Amino acid sequence: MSVAKQLARKELIDMVPYQSARRLYSGGNEVKQKIWLNANEASGQGIYQLNSDCINRYPDFQPENLISAYSEYSKLARENILATRGADEGIELLIRTFCTAYQDNILICPPTYGMYSISAENHGAGIIKVPLTEDCQLDLDAMAQQVGKAKLVFLCSPGNPTGNLLSASSIKATLDMFSDSAVVVVDEAYIEFSPEQSVASWLAQYPQLVVLRTLSKAFALAGLRCGFTLANADIITMLSKVIAPYPIALPVAEIASSNLAASGVQQMNTRVQQSNFLRQQLADWLENQDWCTKVFASDANFILFQTSSTDEKHFIFNSLVAQDILIRDQSAQLNLTNCLRISIGSDDELLKLKQTITMAFANRKNTQNILQNEN
Ligand SMILES: *Cc1c(COP(=O)(O)O)cnc(C)c1O
Repeated sequence: MSVAKQLARKELIDMVPYQSARRLYSGGNEVKQKIWLNANEASGQGIYQLNSDCINRYPDFQPENLISAYSEYSKLARENILATRGADEGIELLIRTFCTAYQDNILICPPTYGMYSISAENHGAGIIKVPLTEDCQLDLDAMAQQVGKAKLVFLCSPGNPTGNLLSASSIKATLDMFSDSAVVVVDEAYIEFSPEQSVASWLAQYPQLVVLRTLSKAFALAGLRCGFTLANADIITMLSKVIAPYPIALPVAEIASSNLAASGVQQMNTRVQQSNFLRQQLADWLENQDWCTKVFASDANFILFQTSSTDEKHFIFNSLVAQDILIRDQSAQLNLTNCLRISIGSDDELLKLKQTITMAFANRKNTQNILQNEN
């Protein structure tokens, strides 16, 4: 039996997905050659102009141009790819597909991305937490204790908000450990910042592996809402029963496809190089600040660091807010006391951030000196 059939919610196994007009007869390149009277669409389009002249028609369930473009980019077959409204929808689909509400659990390794537990709670799935080790790697011994108790294991590599990659050997160990009891999801939202570390090429060896991708980070298209779930065909088929009948809007498919063409990928790579360079600069600067007690290693487009006290954390955060610079407080996360996260913006933005912090501390010191002299 396939992994998908073995682990999916029982009611999904024989379920036939909604047979939309477009699923029965996909459009593809033939949209204009047929007379479409099967979906209650209008015969002409409204006033909004688009490159494609078929916006009066429902889009394909999985737009052909988009799946081909991502297949080319990821070097995976089309049957291994499901396009979703962001990676977030992939997370939600996985939980809805594999977890029976009020019965099944997911396993997460905090500190980690927040949406795994939000989606689980929304669906009524339980959450088993196995914290990362002090060096932000998987605690394999503790995970081994949970084998058989979770349907889905969410790994995030590079991790958000920690920033570092998980070791390939620990991801392999997790896949082996949960081989016949759970789907192991590797969230690669930031993998373009260290592409050689992707585990997408492991799909052929591991039927239980799922990889999440997105155009929101390195591709700079967060507003588009487009992501991809990569998995073996039986898992993709099962997820296709749960996803909406027309998840990807026509303009989204068009914009995403053009960004995945050679010139788009080249632009993305240039952006990644620049971001990695600026990240190193910022890390070096943070290392030299006396209020900074730890800079977490990052393989992504952000840096997590720890401040020396809660007062210092608030001082830095609020000094930045006062200048309309927003960073993210991560101190509510497990083991991230007094930690802040900075996204790698432009050269100018990061320069302004450093100047603002430097100025704030200098002003504070001056004020303290004046008060001391007055006493
Ligand atoms: C940003 C992010 C996502 C969600 O990406 P979308 O495609 O915008 O939904 C998923 N996982 C992680 C780890 C992220 O940081």
